[in-house]
Amino acid sequence: MTNVLLDVKAISKNFGGVQAVSLVDFDVRKGEIVALIGPNGAGKSTVLNMISGVVPPTQGEIYFEERLMANVPGSQYAGLGITRTFQNLQTFDDMTVLENVMVGCHSRTQSGLLACGLKLGQARREEVDMHHRALQWLEIVGLSSVANTLAGNLPYGMLRLMEIARAMVSEPKLLLLDEPAAGLNHTETADMTNMLKRIRANGTAILLVEHDMDMVMNAADRIVVLDQGEKIAEGTPAQIQESPEVIAAYLGTEEVMQTRGESVG
Ligand code: ADP
Ligand code: MG
Repeated sequence: MTNVLLDVKAISKNFGGVQAVSLVDFDVRKGEIVALIGPNGAGKSTVLNMISGVVPPTQGEIYFEERLMANVPGSQYAGLGITRTFQNLQTFDDMTVLENVMVGCHSRTQSGLLACGLKLGQARREEVDMHHRALQWLEIVGLSSVANTLAGNLPYGMLRLMEIARAMVSEPKLLLLDEPAAGLNHTETADMTNMLKRIRANGTAILLVEHDMDMVMNAADRIVVLDQGEKIAEGTPAQIQESPEVIAAYLGTEEVMQTRGESVG
């Protein structure tokens, strides 16, 4: 058995003449955090969108546990073990925190969302199960005390944690995160970094798109660097910090790297 969970082979994406991603290759192995970094517009979100089945690659293949993902419908990703969060928050303000988190379970259960409402047989057991898992994850991310609060009343930092809990209730093998530290302050970012390490320790691999270099250098086992759609470097945090290609790509963009809450893509 290979320990490669996700294998990205020479993927490209062209948006009507804009070459957003060109022949990008990398893998994510079981139990590791891989960070995908690069200046704004480098193609990071597009790579994440291709891996999560949101947009098809123009070229190249993506394998998850050796399965070619090209013809797998998006609705089946969570069931296979891939979940994600988005660069911009996706929350239901008029639902409670618990309800928001339980939304993440539906794609995983056999009988699906409709049957869950019927509270019968298999569906009833699944609902009890998902309720239990949702409460567990709220506890892990530190939101138990606000489980019954409307999400719209929560501060931004807590909503970011709520999204992590939602992505984790389906017990994914691979968690895809698009800028989880965007908009967070220093303390919240440190807490989020510790959360990602706990998730890794729990056996879920993470592909992390992030601008916050403290989080990236602190949490990532390996880093893949994109610039203008191409992979320009790959290595450990120490190797990446010393890479001349990476330094050149980021030269003069120190502020851009540190900016949180970027709204591109
Ligand atoms: P990053 O996440 O690294 O900031 P993106 O993947 O969002 O970069 O964008 C990479 C490039 O692709 C940018 O030039 C962006 O304008 C372009 N792009 C992204 N999504 C689309 C789209 N849906 N249609 C057209 N161009 C897009
Ligand atoms: Mg992006």
